[in-house]
Amino acid sequence: MTKEEIKQSISMTELVERYGLRPNRAGFIRCPFHQGDHTASLKIYRDSFYCFGCGEGGDIFKFVMLMDGCSFKDAFISLGGEYQKPETKADSRHALRDRLNSDWKRERAEQKKRNKRIRLLQVSRDMDLYRSVMRAYKPFSDEWCTCMCEYSSALEEYECLWEEVSADL
Ligand SMILES: [Zn+2]
Repeated sequence: MTKEEIKQSISMTELVERYGLRPNRAGFIRCPFHQGDHTASLKIYRDSFYCFGCGEGGDIFKFVMLMDGCSFKDAFISLGGEYQKPETKADSRHALRDRLNSDWKRERAEQKKRNKRIRLLQVSRDMDLYRSVMRAYKPFSDEWCTCMCEYSSALEEYECLWEEVSADL
């Protein structure tokens, strides 16, 4: 049970009665937390308690902690509380696979970015080459035109790549 489920299932009155304490008609008990409480100063509410004598108060867990002198964890367990089970092996294998998978995806994305940068460099070198070849030929000669055509498509690719690479930065 969770903390809330325990609170729903055990009322403060029931808990107090487990300790052999019986609230009077007004819902008070003699406070077990301070000495000489002859008038019964500790009021029992639906899911909490408060002592008008010594000021002690809290919920059912606090009551058990004070009565038994134990930690919250011990009180919680003694009232039927359960802590979440640790991950099973299947769960951790699953988690590991997920992590490896996302590492792999990230690595792939990085690789793609690297490839784009490498390609960008290649294309820019090709463009240099075309430009120098073009200078060697007469403008608008067949060779020059072929080179110009290659240069234009390289330029187009370069511009596309440049846009993608700069978006990744
Ligand atoms: Zn008290």
